[in-house]
Amino acid sequence: MPYKDPEKRRAYARAYAAEYHAKHRDEIRARKARYRSEHPDRERAKKARHYAKHREELKAKAAKYRAEHPEKRRACQAKYRAEHREELRSYEAKYRAEHREEIAARAARYCAEHREEIRARRAKYYAEHREELAARRAMYRERHREQECARRAKYYAEHREEVIARSAQWREEHREEKWTYDKKWRAEHPEEARAQRWRRRARLASAPGSHTAADVRAQYKRQRGRCYWCGAKVGDQYHVDHVIPLARGGSDGPGNIVIACPACNLRKSAKHPHEFVPEGRLQLRMC
Ligand SMILES: [Zn+2]
Repeated sequence: MPYKDPEKRRAYARAYAAEYHAKHRDEIRARKARYRSEHPDRERAKKARHYAKHREELKAKAAKYRAEHPEKRRACQAKYRAEHREELRSYEAKYRAEHREEIAARAARYCAEHREEIRARRAKYYAEHREELAARRAMYRERHREQECARRAKYYAEHREEVIARSAQWREEHREEKWTYDKKWRAEHPEEARAQRWRRRARLASAPGSHTAADVRAQYKRQRGRCYWCGAKVGDQYHVDHVIPLARGGSDGPGNIVIACPACNLRKSAKHPHEFVPEGRLQLRMC
């Protein structure tokens, strides 16, 4: 069957090859696969050649695929991360160590540019995770008790006046709340509450001097039923206050007691009169 016409000859060859392929498909595939597995370097080189030749085209195709299948991409990335966790972690640590300044600058820039957004996000997060955050803070405090104590003591030593003023103001603004809280606290901590009462009693017992109910009535009369510190009418809601606090060695005798409204008494607590002045209105009473 010698074809003279080259067109016809080629057509015949093509048909023959196609027929052969169809008949031996699996065999050919297996042979190719075997060849590939026996010559991985050649396979790689071939792929590289192909990639180099069609680089832009392949890149575009891959990008298109990624854009069309974001979930596949995410899954793939997650799988990779899970499989290379340690490796990635050490790589990130290295990167952070090497680019510390750059990262800090970038973060600062981001914070400055998105201040409001960050604040809103944070507030939302706090509102949504209030309980959880409180629990975590409590756990942290529990675990770092010593450090926390030291930190607080240091802060207190450095900001004493400020802290006292702030807590006094807080008490002033949350009087009812504080009262309820204290009552609850005493009920829940009977031992400590008792110890507190004992301390107060011991202070009274060891204080020089003592006063009687008549002394209190006389003092009440002298002050015309007004608070010694703020001048407000006290009615029968008054405390007997020690001008020099018992805790600071003051006497419990009639010379050291005055009538005070509960607010002033609580706010003054263990302060000397001159320490209490900026908060109260002692100046008015002194003239
Ligand atoms: Zn008062």
